[in-house]
Amino acid sequence: MAFERYGTMKVNDKGHLEIGGVDTLKLAESYGTPLYVYDVALIRERARGFKKTFEELGVKAQVAYASKAFSAIAIYQLMAEEGMSLDVVSGGELYTAIEAGYPKERIHFHGNNKTREELVMALDYEIGCIVLDNFYEIELLTELLRNRKQKIAVLVRVTPGIEAHTHDYILTGQDDSKFGFGLTNGQAEEAIRQVLAASDAFDLIGLHCHIGSQIFETTGFVMAAHRIMEQLVTWHESLGFDSKVLNLGGGFGVRYTEEDKPLEPAEYVRQIVAEIKKVADGHGLAVPEIWIEPGRSLVGEAGTTLYQAGSRKEVPGVRQYLAVDGGMNDNIRPALYEAHYEAVLARRPLDKPEETISLAGKCCESGDMLIWDLPLPKAAAGDYLAVFCTGAYGYAMASNYNRIPRPAVVFVENGEAKLVIKRESYADLIQNDLALN
Ligand code: PLP
Repeated sequence: MAFERYGTMKVNDKGHLEIGGVDTLKLAESYGTPLYVYDVALIRERARGFKKTFEELGVKAQVAYASKAFSAIAIYQLMAEEGMSLDVVSGGELYTAIEAGYPKERIHFHGNNKTREELVMALDYEIGCIVLDNFYEIELLTELLRNRKQKIAVLVRVTPGIEAHTHDYILTGQDDSKFGFGLTNGQAEEAIRQVLAASDAFDLIGLHCHIGSQIFETTGFVMAAHRIMEQLVTWHESLGFDSKVLNLGGGFGVRYTEEDKPLEPAEYVRQIVAEIKKVADGHGLAVPEIWIEPGRSLVGEAGTTLYQAGSRKEVPGVRQYLAVDGGMNDNIRPALYEAHYEAVLARRPLDKPEETISLAGKCCESGDMLIWDLPLPKAAAGDYLAVFCTGAYGYAMASNYNRIPRPAVVFVENGEAKLVIKRESYADLIQNDLALN
């Protein structure tokens, strides 16, 4: 069965779906639904796997958790415990990291429109580095740093002109992107010149690129690494610039459904490192420190969402809809990206399918569908469903549309469950509302 691939997930002796040694029915009953359940052992295994691969290859590296995938105090503390660095993209993520006690020197700040306030926050906290994304930011940050007589490490984000094979909305390394400086149109070189010229404010430690997400091949990464390294050879001569760090971003694919065939995370790393070493050795350049920023591949498969089934609607001769107590509020990806998922009944995950249902959310949107045409044993109101691989961009993109409270999040490990985000209450929903009179 599909779910056997995800970490500690198994079917227990009662025949129920179990994660991290905890019965999912017990979780649903104790914490209510919808409920995000995270398999902590799987997150640790992934984090350690990336780090170990770099160690085995003998290159200096940093693995930064791209926390847009799931941002919360508990996940930040877990990543800190695992010795990871952290990629944040907003004042809110940065604040959460600081509140979590994240080692500030391991925090990297991204974003294509960081505000003055957010930049000041980053400078006040003295975080590890800022990833420069555009000329406006270079100017703004130079002014801030000079006024404060402060200096900070920066990377320059480049778009290497790579079209990775993925959904258009999650493709970022192509020339026509809102992110970064174009490598082929000369903007990246101009950015490097400006940053080098402001050496009283910036310590330019290297370059960054991120070619897209949910990528199943190494070709795009290898091409990006190759182009940037070739460029570095030129800049070594023309600008005297040597990149101490080369950050190749995240984007390593995960398995949402049986059709998805991601590579082992280590495989992406091996190929990237091999290419960087090849070009560096070929031109007598030092191999830069290699950084990566996995998000989805660290937490995606570790997350499962439990829902309770409610109403059913049959469109005779067309389709059976089964509605659950969540939907696009807790998982926008099917509506946003036409993302596909798999699910089972938590009470009897191994039972043979008896019908094909389409799993609907409860929002007032026809597009609020979680899974179309899901083969399932006969399910009735009250049954719990487990939707797999919801750990990335699920809670992170959750909303209160229709004034539906955001679900709770539990971490499970070694037979213990720990509530790490409380379910929102109706009172939480109106806490910032002000009465008209
Ligand atoms: N790094 C950057 C700059 C990103 O924009 C993203 C995702 O959008 C990531 C890392 C993480 O990507 P993923 O979750 O697919 O690994």
